[in-house]
Amino acid sequence: MKDNVALIVAGGKGKRMGAKVSKQFIEIQEKPVLYYTLLRFEKCKNINSIVLVLPKEEIEFSRKNIIEKYDFKKVKRIVSGGKERQDSVYNGLIAIEHCNVVLIHDGARPFVEDRIIEEGIEWAEKYDAAACGVRPKDTIKVIDSCGFSSNTLNREELFCVQTPQCFKYETILKAHEYIKDNCLNVTDDTRAVELIGYKVFLYEGSYKNIKITTPEDLVFAKNIMTGI
Ligand code: C5P
Repeated sequence: MKDNVALIVAGGKGKRMGAKVSKQFIEIQEKPVLYYTLLRFEKCKNINSIVLVLPKEEIEFSRKNIIEKYDFKKVKRIVSGGKERQDSVYNGLIAIEHCNVVLIHDGARPFVEDRIIEEGIEWAEKYDAAACGVRPKDTIKVIDSCGFSSNTLNREELFCVQTPQCFKYETILKAHEYIKDNCLNVTDDTRAVELIGYKVFLYEGSYKNIKITTPEDLVFAKNIMTGI
């Protein structure tokens, strides 16, 4: 079975945006952010299907106003999100019967390119686990509890991880079962596979592949969209 599945997590409430609607439903050029994210995977020839995770109360609205309205044919399952992102990912993973590579992607990251998706599949096939990202542009310091710098990290050794994060299906399912059974919290899926002993291959993402999180990200997103 060589199917590759995109697992789009859009089950969050987006508290940091401060808006009434979750960040994935904010509109840019009259279409919700989630529309643009789904379009990237719908159009990618090596993605066979999409599993979408949404807040329970947004499922019917999104089905009608995004999936059916824009005729997203690859969206085969819609499942409800959990309390934390990792719970949403787990709900999505167990809705997938079996596949080759699963690409876990934030619904609020609409500028992912075809190249990033295609390379993610290739690296996951080779190494079991891969994630795209970029080198930090700023110097990164460790801050102590009094607000002082306690260390300056070597920028050459740092990498800002984005999504998609791409895995062989069995590997990521095993990792999520492990963190669930052991009540561990992780901020992303690469950490989950590291905890069961895998090394994650890191490859080039893009500075445009931003996650729309705070209001200033929206300004940047609108500029990317209009090519300014
Ligand atoms: O909150 P954060 O920025 O880490 O969210 C990244 C992605 O994970 C977003 O697309 C958000 O909708 C999703 N998420 C989720 N379920 C949660 C929290 C976040 O699907 N409980």
